[in-house]
Amino acid sequence: MLQLSKSLTKRKKAIAIVVAQLLSNIYQDVEPTHEMNRIIDLLKDESKSVTTAYGTTSGEEVTKLISEEGLDMDEVNRRILLYRNRRRLKKGRTRSQLVGDLANYLSDYCSQAKTYEELVDQIKHMPKMTHKPLGGGFDLDNENVPVFLETLTDEERKKLLQKVNEKIAQGGKEFEIGEDLERYLNEVGMKYGIDCSVDDFETMGKSYFGIKVFIGDRGIIGWFHGTFEELKAALSKEIELEAQDKVKCPYCGRKIVRYVAMNILKNCDCGAKIEIVRESVRKGNVTHMKRNIAFLKLKET
Ligand SMILES: [Zn+2]
Repeated sequence: MLQLSKSLTKRKKAIAIVVAQLLSNIYQDVEPTHEMNRIIDLLKDESKSVTTAYGTTSGEEVTKLISEEGLDMDEVNRRILLYRNRRRLKKGRTRSQLVGDLANYLSDYCSQAKTYEELVDQIKHMPKMTHKPLGGGFDLDNENVPVFLETLTDEERKKLLQKVNEKIAQGGKEFEIGEDLERYLNEVGMKYGIDCSVDDFETMGKSYFGIKVFIGDRGIIGWFHGTFEELKAALSKEIELEAQDKVKCPYCGRKIVRYVAMNILKNCDCGAKIEIVRESVRKGNVTHMKRNIAFLKLKET
């Protein structure tokens, strides 16, 4: 028998909690749903006694209660997620890993905060996004992060705030190094007329760099192991390689860096018009469209 309050709002909440606890107890991996009928289907034939926060009950009894009093589906769903996440947490994932993953998730979007409340307040304005923690575990997203945050102790909240602030500071430093790299690559590229840009830059320790760089039209993405000086040297070598890729004007024989001919020049020195044409290239069964270059000279009249 359930001990329920006479107050309507307290009753409503209690029934939702009982339903979520029952479902979680009977079905280990029950998913949130917005259909009350689905929940009634799951519970109506369950006669097993389950102890809940409001007393011992069964699916049969609760189904009757739902049909008489309705069900706060939002509360049920919130609780289902909460219990599921608590259960998963107990299964192997350590608390400090969780705090670390949450810090990664939050530092991608939030700005530095003075208090935990100020940090968490920013979550409301976050766009929909999913974060896959490095080294496995389950994804973090807009739905389960608030539920996880609810499970944190005061000590863990303090730790989270500190970690997020550290990560954001680190990100600022990375941004500056990334800007340095971009300036350097453009200095090297300028000799050949090749534009360079650094789209993404990450550091792991002192000798591991994650980069997404464009040298002309060519994207280079991946991890580099070595010093920052070695990274700069490796990329400037790529620029020189790119500069060796040249096209030849069929009219005057001038050789022009392909990137420059394709992106910057409109005419060759001899007056030939440079045009970008789309060509289809067949590879096996697949046809790719490829940009290519054509030199055209109008007949003099
Ligand atoms: Zn020419």
